[in-house]
Amino acid sequence: MPKKLEHIGIAVKDLGKSEVLFEKLLNTSSYKREEVASEGVITSFFRIGEIKIELLAATNPDSPIAKFIDKKGEGIHHLAFESDSINDELEHLNNEGIELIHQQPKDGADNKEIAFLHPKSTGGVLWELCQEKKA
Ligand code: ZN
Repeated sequence: MPKKLEHIGIAVKDLGKSEVLFEKLLNTSSYKREEVASEGVITSFFRIGEIKIELLAATNPDSPIAKFIDKKGEGIHHLAFESDSINDELEHLNNEGIELIHQQPKDGADNKEIAFLHPKSTGGVLWELCQEKKA
C-alpha cells in the first residue's frame, strides 16, 4: 500500500536555471544534486514540509526526460508514492491489471529503490513507487 506522496518529479531543461526559480518559489535551497546515469538524468531535490520536489534534467538526448520535454515541454513529470515493500506493491498492482514499466525495482536517486507504472493504466499519470534502501 502507498504510505504517502514522497515527491513530485518535475522535468526541466536547464537544472541550474530551474534551481534558481524553485529556490525563489519555495524559499529554500536545493539540498542535493544527484545523477542517475542509468536513466540519463541529473536530479536536484528540495524539501518542502513532508514532501520533496525532484527536478529532473536530461544528461543526454536519449534520456526519457529529453523525450518527455520534446513531447510535452517542461512541467510535472511524475508523482512518487512511498511504500514499505515495492515488490509486494508491484505484485499486487500487476494482479489488479495495472501495467508496469519496471517488473522489478531498480536503483533511483535519493537512496531509493524505484519502479514506474505505465501512464496508460494510471489515468495519464506517470506513477513512481519508491522505497528507502535498507542500509
Ligand atoms: Zn522520482
